[in-house]
Amino acid sequence: MIDKHVIIVGAGFSGAVAARIFARANYKVDIYEKRGSIGGNMYDFKDEDGIIVQKYGPHIFHTNNKNVLDFLSSYTSWNDYKHQVKGYIDGKLVPIPFNLESLELLFSKKDAEYIKKFLINKFGIDKRIPIMDLMKEKDEKIKNFAKYVYEKVFNNYTLKQWDLPPEKLGEVVMNRVPVNISYNNYYFSDKYQLMPKDGFTALFENMINRKNITIHLDSDATSLFKFDDKKKRILFKGKPTRDIIIYTGCLDELFGYRFGELQYRTLDFMFELKNSKSYQDVAVVNYPNDERYTRITEFTKFTSTPLDKKTIIMKEYPRSCNKDDIPYYPIEIKENIDTYDKYLKLAKDYKNLYPLGRLAQYKYMNMDICIDNAINLAEQLVKSNR
Ligand SMILES: Cc1cc2nc3c(=O)[nH]c(=O)nc-3n(C[C@H](O)[C@H](O)[C@H](O)COP(=O)(O)OP(=O)(O)OC[C@H]3O[C@@H](n4cnc5c(N)ncnc54)[C@H](O)[C@@H]3O)c2cc1C
Repeated sequence: MIDKHVIIVGAGFSGAVAARIFARANYKVDIYEKRGSIGGNMYDFKDEDGIIVQKYGPHIFHTNNKNVLDFLSSYTSWNDYKHQVKGYIDGKLVPIPFNLESLELLFSKKDAEYIKKFLINKFGIDKRIPIMDLMKEKDEKIKNFAKYVYEKVFNNYTLKQWDLPPEKLGEVVMNRVPVNISYNNYYFSDKYQLMPKDGFTALFENMINRKNITIHLDSDATSLFKFDDKKKRILFKGKPTRDIIIYTGCLDELFGYRFGELQYRTLDFMFELKNSKSYQDVAVVNYPNDERYTRITEFTKFTSTPLDKKTIIMKEYPRSCNKDDIPYYPIEIKENIDTYDKYLKLAKDYKNLYPLGRLAQYKYMNMDICIDNAINLAEQLVKSNR
C-alpha cells in the first residue's frame, strides 16, 4: 500500500533518479517539470532519419563510478564511445587537451623536440600538467610555450564562455586546463565512457515509467510553494505539507530573489543541416579564438551510423543569462557563492526541503556526480523515513 508521498521539482537526472529510488520504495511520486519534456539538459530526440540530436548541448557519459553505471544500465544498453575534441588553432585542427601531437602540429620541428624532451624529462610521459604550473617554469622556451597555449587554447575561450578573465574564475577552473605529455587524444580518462544506445530521453522514459510516478510537464513549481517564514513550514498548493520535497531548480527563483539574483551563463544553440556525410573529423571542435561560437558539435559522430548525404551540426554561443533564459553554468565566483550561501541557509530552515543538483547546489557537476548524489540522498531519506 502506498502511504508516503514525495514532491520532486525538475525531471533532469537529479530529480528523475531520486524519483525512481522513491518509487522503488513504494512512495507516491509527483514530478513537476517546467519544460514540456523530461530529461532536463540531457533531453535528446531522433530526427526523421534517426539521428539523435541533443537539444541542450553535447553530453557524453563518462565515469569511474561503477554504481552509477550499474544503476543506469537497468534502463539502457550502451554504445562504446570515446570522446575526442579538436581545437582550431592558427589555422590547424589539433587535439584538445593540448598534447604532444598538438605541439608537433603547431611548433617547428626543432622547438617541438626541445619542449617535448624538457616536459618528458621533468614530468615523465603520460602526465597531465596544469598550464599554470608550466607558466611558472624558468626556462624561457617552456614559459613561452605555456603562454602560447594559455592564450590560444584557454584565455579567449574562457572570455567567450564566461565573459570573465580566467584569473577571476579561481584556481579550480584554471587547474582544469592541462597540457598532456602524451600522444593520447582522448578527452576523458574515466574507466567507463559510453553513450546510451537509444539516447538519453529513452533512458529517462524507462527510468521513470512507473505507475506510482506522475510527471506534470509544463508545470513551473515556484508558484506552487509558499514559505511561512515564522512557522518554518512550507505550503504546497495552499496547504501546509510535511512531504519530502526534492528541489532541483534554482534557489533564488524559489525564494523570490529575496537576496538578489544568482548569476549563470546561458547558451544559444544554432543547428545546421549539411548535405554531406561528414562535416568535421571528430564530434566536437573548439573554436577558442576568432569565431563568436565556442564549439561545433556534429551529432552523427556520437553514435548514429552516418547517413550518405546528411549530417547535423550545432554551434554554441554563450551569453549572460536573464530570468527567462535557461541557466546552464553557475558562475562560481565569491560574490555569487556568498549570495547562494544565504539561500542555502534559508532552505535549511525548512526541514522537509532538499536542494539537489547542479542548479539547486549552484555547482557545475557532471551527470555521474548528480546521479550519485541523487541515489545517496533518496536512499538515505527512504531509510530514515521507514
Ligand atoms: C552544455 C553542457 C554540456 C554538458 N556536458 C556534459 C557531459 O558531456 N558529461 C557530463 O557528465 N555532464 C555534462 N554536463 C552536465 C550535466 O548536464 C548535468 O550534470 C546534469 O544535466 C544535471 O542534472 P540536473 O537534474 O541536476 O539538472 P538539469 O538537467 O538542469 O535539470 C533540472 C530540471 O529542473 C527543471 N526546473 C528548474 N526549475 C523548475 C521549476 N521552478 N519548476 C519546475 N521545473 C523546474 C528544469 O527545467 C530542468 O529540466 C553538461 C552541462 C552543460 C550545461
